[in-house]
Amino acid sequence: MPLRVNIRELLSGPITLRGELPAEDYQLETFDEMIRVAGPVVHDLEVQRVEDELLVHGTLRLVLACECVRCLKPFRRVLELADWSAVMPLVGEEALVVGPDETADLTLWIREDILLALPQHPVCDPQCPGLLRPGAGASPGGAERPAGPEGSVWSELDKLKF
Ligand SMILES: [Zn+2]
Repeated sequence: MPLRVNIRELLSGPITLRGELPAEDYQLETFDEMIRVAGPVVHDLEVQRVEDELLVHGTLRLVLACECVRCLKPFRRVLELADWSAVMPLVGEEALVVGPDETADLTLWIREDILLALPQHPVCDPQCPGLLRPGAGASPGGAERPAGPEGSVWSELDKLKF
């Protein structure tokens, strides 16, 4: 169920939206195998209508299940967009989709901002040394000799002559 707000009700004052939505409702597939959204997206928003725009302000919070790009260790991180705000037009090219029940869907707008806030290269710790390599050295098959007969076919033939 998307996050909707009634734009007619907004004419009589701001509306507070508080709750959570499953990550699937935001279609938060991240296109990054190192980052996954774990659990719901919690929102605490105030929506205000000023003429043909909605001013949305508040906090969005979600948990990310990441894999460290340096050491590959899985870890979790809370992503919080505190003091987040957006101006969503009700008219024009970028306008919110308003349904026949006069509710506007804020979900896609919020989704875009969450995707923009995701870390680019998640690391478990800024000091992460990366993968430790125990017993580095013995490269597999490094000193292997090429198999096969030494010398050419012609030298073999030469031997046969004598
Ligand atoms: Zn790491």
